Amino acid sequence: MTASGPSIAIIGGGIGGLFAANALIAHGLSVQVYEQAPALGEVGAGVFITPNSVRQLERVGLGPAVETWGARVGSGSRYFRDDGSPIAPVQVTDSAGWNATFGMHRADLVNFLAAALPAGVVHTGHRATGFAQDESTARVTFANGAVVEADIVVACDGIHSELRPFVFPPSDPVFSGTVAYRGLVPHAAVPDWPKDAWQMWLGRGKHFLVFPVRAGQLVNYVGFVPADAQMKESWTAQGDPDALRAEFAGWDPRIEGLLKEVTSTFKWALYDREPLPTWTRGRLTLLGDAAHPMLPHLGQGANQSIEDGMALATILANADRDTAPAALVAYEKLRRERVAGVQRGARENGLRYDTMLGDVAKRDAEIVAHASFRKTLYDHDVVVEAREAAEAL
Ligand code: FAD
Repeated sequence: MTASGPSIAIIGGGIGGLFAANALIAHGLSVQVYEQAPALGEVGAGVFITPNSVRQLERVGLGPAVETWGARVGSGSRYFRDDGSPIAPVQVTDSAGWNATFGMHRADLVNFLAAALPAGVVHTGHRATGFAQDESTARVTFANGAVVEADIVVACDGIHSELRPFVFPPSDPVFSGTVAYRGLVPHAAVPDWPKDAWQMWLGRGKHFLVFPVRAGQLVNYVGFVPADAQMKESWTAQGDPDALRAEFAGWDPRIEGLLKEVTSTFKWALYDREPLPTWTRGRLTLLGDAAHPMLPHLGQGANQSIEDGMALATILANADRDTAPAALVAYEKLRRERVAGVQRGARENGLRYDTMLGDVAKRDAEIVAHASFRKTLYDHDVVVEAREAAEAL
């Protein structure tokens, strides 16, 4: 811990907050994490992590955990038409040929991010409800009556962020009109399913994604379909497996075979927000979905949160309590435009996957061309620019 480094309070113990805590501690900074839930946890669903964030997970010593808990996907990964005819391979490496694309159970990722933190860093049962700051200190109040002071507060409290309005006036999230049916099937129930492939089927107005998680023991599926009236009112709901099967009836028989094994499923309404014009006010900044909730159609929400955390840590490592607000501005400057591009790109790619940007031939050509965009995304190492920003403080 640097004697003069700023003290940091992280609000929210999701993927964004927990990775940021790891990165800040790896840079010698003093961090506490406050999570509203009585215990850390995640829903039973998958998340896909890509080289741009695996590079950062490795830097904090979590490479072995990724290898243990993840399911690396390889060259069998493909995009298909809804009838099962192949469109194109999926880009699974960066430009250097490094394959670091892994399916991961969300709970496994949260668990190993938390397990890597020193005891006493994470405080559960702390729901932030208020924020105040003056020239020298930031103060967070919690529903349980606790009050915490720190030099810096990082709001990692997700798309509904309680602290975002202390940075920028409240705004409504934007509903995409799409819901995602999500769930997991034991691999033992579908033994022929590949344990090392990310596969997506594209139709009109719908698409279906499958990738392995937990070292291939579980098969994660996501079915993206237009929302019904009920989902326009709710964020999440228990889904009906028969309704899910009906949505993809007549698609590739492999999907039918997988969906036969679904006994329960979860429906998740997909929202994002317009990119914010600012993330920072004084000693408070935003990170992850609190700053930039995005649609899942580039699979980058968690990956970008991890990039955020490493950028923030690299820059704050060069700051003291007085220069910490300037460091937050430098962090925002480094991240905001890049992530806004990914937010917009995720919206566009969802339309592409749903064949809404042109006919099937145009869509397929764009899917083939998508590999070069993926390489650019995956090649990015946020630390290179973050070090320059830190030196310029
Ligand atoms: P969250 O995960 O929302 O965590 C916020 C945390 O803050 C929670 O623990 C919450 O309890 C806590 N909290 C909230 N309010 C308070 C408060 N007032 N006080 C204290 N704590 C609070 N991303 C990818 O990179 N790859 C993928 O493949 C992918 N797939 C996705 C599929 C779907 C269908 C969806 C919807 C999203 C997907 N994402 C994916 C996006 C990714 O899940 C999110 O971007 C990521 O989890 C954001 O992490 P976060 O920590 O910022 O927010």
